[in-house]
Amino acid sequence: MDEESIRLNTSYFRAIEEAGGLPILVPTLQTPESLSQLSELLDGILFSGGVDIDPKHYNEEPLPSLGQITPDRDELEISLCRIFYEKNKPIFGICRGVQLINVALGGTLYQDIKTQLGNVLKHQQDAPAHAPTHRVFIEKDSILFSIVRTEILPVNSFHHQAVKDVAPVLRITARASDGVIEAVESNDDRFVLGVQWHPERMFNRYREHFELFRRFVEECAKRGKRG
Ligand code: MN
Repeated sequence: MDEESIRLNTSYFRAIEEAGGLPILVPTLQTPESLSQLSELLDGILFSGGVDIDPKHYNEEPLPSLGQITPDRDELEISLCRIFYEKNKPIFGICRGVQLINVALGGTLYQDIKTQLGNVLKHQQDAPAHAPTHRVFIEKDSILFSIVRTEILPVNSFHHQAVKDVAPVLRITARASDGVIEAVESNDDRFVLGVQWHPERMFNRYREHFELFRRFVEECAKRGKRG
């Protein structure tokens, strides 16, 4: 059997570093003690892209259109998300990350938008990763709007799942024109932000996408020591 490994595209930590933060990669820790220690150490947490979340975490059986899953990573990230939420430390989610935040805080997902929603846009683009291919429509009274300062933002798209029922502590702040949820954030004054697109693949070409990382790092500096 192959030895297990973890991998992360470098663009995530390039973006955090360029925004003034110090990115630390987290291994798949397993004991409650190490999760607790880690949450003391870090000022905030970014949940990156990846494969599908096991639907058992939102009380569903797997549909045929469900993709690959990573059970250890699900357990780790769901626990970390709840710990950081309790400590009021900033949480940022990208792609799988927004789905993870939603599930960890009590929401559900579409296991596959094409088969479950039907008439949707192309959310798995064949264009280069930095290229925006569809637009998202942003709620004006949101943290997301205060960061990107536009109601219509062109984004890239690499997902076959999406948020379905939003967690009670979150609100929807952006959708695509087909209604697919593209961003959620905290409905109180915590910094919890998730986006369905990949700003880390766009940040060095488009200011709005860099600003997401800049604000996250700023919030980490401001709030991260509270816990
Ligand atoms: Mn999309």
